[in-house]
Amino acid sequence: MKILITGGAGFIGSAVIRHIIEDTQDSVINLDKLTYAGNLQSLAHVESNDRYAFEQVDICNRTELDRVFLTYKPDAVMHLAAESHVDRSITGPAEFIQTNIVGTYNLLEAAREYWSALDAATKQTFRFHHISTDEVYGDLPHPDEQESKALDKELPLFTELTSYAPSSPYSASKASSDHLVRAWLRTYGFPTIVTNCSNNYGPYHFPEKLIPLVILNALEGKDLPVYGKGDQIRDWLYVEDHARALYKVVTEGKVGETYNIGGHNEKQNIEVVKTICSILDQLVPKKSAYAEQITFVSDRPGHDRRYAIDSSKIAKELNWSPIETFETGLRKTVQWYLDNQQWCQNVQDGSYQRERLGEIDTQ
Ligand code: NAD
Repeated sequence: MKILITGGAGFIGSAVIRHIIEDTQDSVINLDKLTYAGNLQSLAHVESNDRYAFEQVDICNRTELDRVFLTYKPDAVMHLAAESHVDRSITGPAEFIQTNIVGTYNLLEAAREYWSALDAATKQTFRFHHISTDEVYGDLPHPDEQESKALDKELPLFTELTSYAPSSPYSASKASSDHLVRAWLRTYGFPTIVTNCSNNYGPYHFPEKLIPLVILNALEGKDLPVYGKGDQIRDWLYVEDHARALYKVVTEGKVGETYNIGGHNEKQNIEVVKTICSILDQLVPKKSAYAEQITFVSDRPGHDRRYAIDSSKIAKELNWSPIETFETGLRKTVQWYLDNQQWCQNVQDGSYQRERLGEIDTQ
C-alpha cells in the first residue's frame, strides 16, 4: 500500500511515518510545506529508505497537489498537515484559516478528482483519513465545578456523538475542516474516515508545547510557566500509541466512521509539570528541586478547562488500546529529551530550518 501523508515532518506525522516504514511493508509519500513546525531531522532514521519519498508542497497549492497525486498514485491519504498551536491561533488566526480550512478543501478536491478517475476496484479500497482533535468538542465539566461535585457521579467524556463547540481559532478551523470532510462523504460519496484525538506527547515534540517546554526550561534553570492555576485537565496520549491507532484506522477502519482516540490519562497541567520535575529530580539531580522553578502566568483567553476522550469505539471495533501509561510514557519522553539534546538545540537555534534550505553542510 502507498500512503500519501500530509504534514509528515510534524510531530505526529513523523511518528506515523517512522511506524509505517519501520514496522510495515507499506510506502509513504510525505507531503509537507515545512513551516516552522516541520522538521525533517525527525525522519533521519527513515529518509534513505526506498519506501519513503518527500515532496515539499503547500496543501493550498492545487497544481502541486495534482502533480503529486498523478506522480505517486497513492492508495490512501492520511491528512495531518495543519497549523496546530492554539496560542499562535489567538495572535494570528489567518494562517489557521488558510491551511486548516482552505488547504483541507484543496486537498479534498485534488484527492476526489484523482479518486474519480481510478478503476472501480481501486476506487473501492481508496481511503481519505482526516486527522483531527478533541478540541472541536469544546470543553467538559471540571471536577472543581459545583454542579459536577453535586452530581457525585462520573464526569462525562467526549464520544463520537458529542456536538461540536470549538473555543479557539485553532479548534474552530479544525472543526470546519471536519465538516468539509463529512460533506465530501455525504455529497460525493468520497471515502473518508475522521479521527479526533486528545493531547499527544512524546519524542520529537516541538519545544513550544507544554511537556517539552517544561523539560527543556527545567534543564536550563528557567521558569516553568503554568497557565492560571494549572488546573486545566487534558487526556494525554503517547504519540507512538497514536501512530499505531492511525495506521489501524487507515488500513482497517470503516468508511464514513469517526473514531475518538485517547490515552485514558486525565491529568491537571500542574500535575504534569510536577511529575516531570520529580522525574528530573531522579535522573538529573541538582541542589534545589526542579518544582521550585514553577511560575504561574495569566491564563490563556477562552482556555478550555477539561478534555477527556471515550475511546471505547476504536478499542472495540479495531482492537486498539494504548500501551503506555502516563507514567511510563512520560519517563520515556523525559529520557528521550535527555538523550537527544542535539535535536533540541537544532530546533532552538533554528538550524533545523536553515539546513533544509542548504545553508548548513551536514556532511
Ligand atoms: P505539527 O504542528 O507538529 O505539524 C504540522 C505539520 O504540517 C508540519 O510539518 C508543517 O510543516 C505541516 N504544514 C503546516 N501547514 C502546511 C501546509 N499549508 N501545507 C503542507 N504542510 C503544512 O502538528 P502535529 O502536532 O503533528 O499535529 C498533526 C495533526 O494532528 C494536526 O492536524 C493537528 O490538528 C492534529 N492533532 C494534534 C494534536 C497534538 O496533541 N499534537 C492533538 C489532536 C490533533
